[in-house]
Amino acid sequence: TVQGEVRVRFAPSPTGFLHLGGLRTALYNNIFAKKYGGSFILRLEDTDQSRLVPGAAESIEDMLEWAGIPPDESPRQGGPVGPYLQSQRLGLYSQTAQQLVQSGHAYYCFCSPQRLELLKKEALRTGQTPRYDNRCRHLRADQVEEKLAKGMPHVIRFRLEAGVEPFQDLIFGWNRHEVAQVEGDPVVMKADGFPTYHLANIVDDHYMKISHVLRGSEWLISTSKHLLMYCALGWQPPTFGHLPLLMNKDGSKLSKRQGDIFIQSFQKRGILPEALLDITTNCGSGFNTNRIGRTIDELITEFNPSKITTHSALLDLEKLAEF
Ligand code: GLU
Repeated sequence: TVQGEVRVRFAPSPTGFLHLGGLRTALYNNIFAKKYGGSFILRLEDTDQSRLVPGAAESIEDMLEWAGIPPDESPRQGGPVGPYLQSQRLGLYSQTAQQLVQSGHAYYCFCSPQRLELLKKEALRTGQTPRYDNRCRHLRADQVEEKLAKGMPHVIRFRLEAGVEPFQDLIFGWNRHEVAQVEGDPVVMKADGFPTYHLANIVDDHYMKISHVLRGSEWLISTSKHLLMYCALGWQPPTFGHLPLLMNKDGSKLSKRQGDIFIQSFQKRGILPEALLDITTNCGSGFNTNRIGRTIDELITEFNPSKITTHSALLDLEKLAEF
């Protein structure tokens, strides 16, 4: 059962246009919010400035509107703000990174790109998975001060502790990934002053009061890391539900390179949004029945999160091309 105030988000990176996989994630979030009287917001995770695709951010909101699942709170819907842009919230991330440094959960790292490259090469040469060796964890406070005073370029890394607690995923059940055993301390603030995905994502979910994080199952392995960060900050984490991925019929990954999965291209071909809702809901799970031609309101009525299974949703792209 779902309790308390529901607030969910769709958080794409505007590094590409909306495709069927993204639409499906947005749709589950939208109907989850509507089913439980909550709100659904759009947050654009645009912290990787080098990968932004011009026009993608605007187009994502256009496509959600066209599909009949516009985000709440956006001025386009008469709301006060939105979509939320991470690039406009940089102060919040650096303030949180400082908080982590001050409490000893994060540290400055001055390792040069050359050193990291060497580490990587050495690992690959010896057949190991490359990972940062956490060298700067051991710098003394006066060494850090001196390097900062000299203006040396640096990043901030989060100190991964061993012994993660299991968490209960709404869809995948009990989960736990002992991250410290498999990766080096992750960067949370980059040298350019932008946060990485991991930091910005949890800071926003916290300050935006997100109650349920419903996202693709590719993020399941990152959740233990996120929970360590929530714990370090003394924050109550949201509930997580990882959605099984939308795949090709043969189980291979849907690729963004396949032009025919983009929502814009369906729209241009005159395909009705209802058809896309049918496709994205009927190939997966989460509804009391599977049938075509449902309106959004009918989808909301028939939606049953406990029916979402861990199996991938399989899409027949050849059939789609016949539309
Ligand atoms: N920006 C991430 C993505 O593009 C969001 C993941 C999440 O929802 O936490 O998939």
